[in-house]
Amino acid sequence: MCAGLSAGGAAASSQYELLRLDGHQVKWGTPAAGTGSTVTFALVSRPVHSDDARNCRDMQSMDALRRASGIDAAALDAALRAAFDLWEGVADIRFRRVEMPAKADILIGAQSVPRGVAFADVAYHRTSDEAGFRSIRRALVCLNPEKRWMDGFDGDPKTYDLRYAIAHEIGHAIGLDHPGPSGELMSFRYEERFRELQAGDVAGAVGLYGPSRRPGIAAGPRPAAVVEGSAARVATGCASAERSATALSAGERC
Ligand SMILES: [Zn+2]
Repeated sequence: MCAGLSAGGAAASSQYELLRLDGHQVKWGTPAAGTGSTVTFALVSRPVHSDDARNCRDMQSMDALRRASGIDAAALDAALRAAFDLWEGVADIRFRRVEMPAKADILIGAQSVPRGVAFADVAYHRTSDEAGFRSIRRALVCLNPEKRWMDGFDGDPKTYDLRYAIAHEIGHAIGLDHPGPSGELMSFRYEERFRELQAGDVAGAVGLYGPSRRPGIAAGPRPAAVVEGSAARVATGCASAERSATALSAGERC
């Protein structure tokens, strides 16, 4: 997420952008478009340092963030599950929680050095020089514990919806980038206009993993509930397009 504020007004468009690391598109599992995968995730329970990360290099548990925002553990768990369910509901990617952070594919925590709003960091397997997809080997998602968080929208530009921010960062963690400033959940502006995936988000996830196989869930865009007059603020993950040996930050391009 970017830290600054931004005026709204850009036209909504249904589009997506695939994350590219060192020029490679990346996804979990088989490095081919439209193939499903199962990914594990865990909440950080104690300080974690990731030497190869550009974003989220130092993370800690969400306890302080929860306390500061008055969010109990059950509410955090519910927001987390709801965020993963958004993606699982449309694409053939399943997320399984594990308790040991060391064994998780996606690690989620609070930033030890607060900045911005939230970030993701993605690293991939360097298997060959051939063109095409690379398999993601780990992803980090970190939230700024000094921001004010809640479940849902409240029209206050200084409070952030936990589910929305986590879902946006998960989008990076599964291989999506920002399609533009506005109109999709993966857009980099945080505007409180909708809480669901938009058509471009769905198309991107389905392009990477194929349609969801979960019974009773149709892979299709959900209608956006537009709330007039909501504050436009920047948000979720502007990505610095800088590269490191194994990871590119999914985020800021502001
Ligand atoms: Zn982002």
